[in-house]
Amino acid sequence: MSEKLDLYTSKLSKMIQAETVSSFSEPDLDKFKHFRSLLKDLFPLVFKTCEMEEFDGSLLLEWKGVSSDKPSLLMNHYDVVEATGEWSHSAFSGEVVDDKLYGRGTLDDKGPLFAMLQGIEEMIESGFTPKNDIYIETGRNEETDGRGADAISRALEERGIRIDFVLDEGGEIMYDPLGGADGTFAVVGLGEKCTVDLKFTARSAGGHASTPGKNTPLVRLGKFMAEVDSKDLFKKSLSPVIKNMFKDMAPTVKGPLGFVFAHPTFFWSILKTVMPKVSPSAKALLQTTIAFTMAKGSDGDNVLPQEAYVIANMRTSHHEGLEHSIAAVKKIADKYGLETEVVSDPFESPLSDVNSEQYKLLKNIIKESFPNVIPTTYIMNGASDSKYFSRVSNNVFRFAPFTIDEQQLSSIHGIDENVDIDTLEPAVNFYRNLIKEL
Ligand SMILES: [Zn+2]
Repeated sequence: MSEKLDLYTSKLSKMIQAETVSSFSEPDLDKFKHFRSLLKDLFPLVFKTCEMEEFDGSLLLEWKGVSSDKPSLLMNHYDVVEATGEWSHSAFSGEVVDDKLYGRGTLDDKGPLFAMLQGIEEMIESGFTPKNDIYIETGRNEETDGRGADAISRALEERGIRIDFVLDEGGEIMYDPLGGADGTFAVVGLGEKCTVDLKFTARSAGGHASTPGKNTPLVRLGKFMAEVDSKDLFKKSLSPVIKNMFKDMAPTVKGPLGFVFAHPTFFWSILKTVMPKVSPSAKALLQTTIAFTMAKGSDGDNVLPQEAYVIANMRTSHHEGLEHSIAAVKKIADKYGLETEVVSDPFESPLSDVNSEQYKLLKNIIKESFPNVIPTTYIMNGASDSKYFSRVSNNVFRFAPFTIDEQQLSSIHGIDENVDIDTLEPAVNFYRNLIKEL
């Protein structure tokens, strides 16, 4: 192992060993404090050079540039989700086996955090000053309620700071991410769907299960869910981001499908029929989705519920929007006499412009840093902290500069999360190349 790789591996390994699982019940805050002091030890120049503010454990650093005209924000988070299930390498050992570094957070999101801070550390060491101010944000509660990033984005907004370019976690570099393409793509999220939880409640007078009558609460909920499941409730649309994705992928897709991908507007009626059949994730690119996730009836096996409910998790598309998406389901809920209630705190954020100078810049940096990789765009189904920064920026991008395979993709929030150690140096270099241009 080269001296540099040895250094990179040992730093990331230490970051993995400092466990930072976040939960809604506000556990021991000392471990987060310990992690923050570890960061100061590992990246001393970053913390010496930048001005730091703490928002309940989430950090905002400001690296002063020559100008304050076009500030940028590089962000990620240092909390992780629990490591349940049977891992083949202990989740917080940070051990390296067969050139892979294992542990919760290696990809989500301590790998990107390492690469970003290491890139900045090296640039400060070489005497570099950025052209414009660069803000660095790392959240403590992204995996729970994201309130650190929420507070930081509000603070920037109150100070009247507009950010020209935001980069957060998101897509990675993968071979054939959609299925059918013979190429390796750097997938950049130009937005994320809005996530909302809906509660549908059915009420009745209750009573004994021996004399049930018709259409009891659980039956109505069942009919309602079956109808939602069987219908195409949500509009499919070809957003500029997905249109761009098809065009980027087209040259690597053989046969007639390649021709269809190259002309997505012309072949839209084919695409909207074919894509949902390819996979649930291909369908999700085109429309709002809804999934029923929780349910409750009565407390006794012989008692008819006076109140029964189901919870659905909905991810709304930009073209349909939150209000319309809810209305489409509520219409069916009304038919079965159910009450519809929003039980989470949804936050809608717009898509960034695929034709903007800022996306072109990111695309060029990806090409420069990863020569055999094709940059492309998508819309994230999952939520990230970056949505809050749409308050202060029109150009919010979601991409982590790591090359991963299928197993590594499924290891995020799953078991055996790991990163190839030979992807660390290219990731550090990506941040260095990017920062030079910001
Ligand atoms: Zn994450």
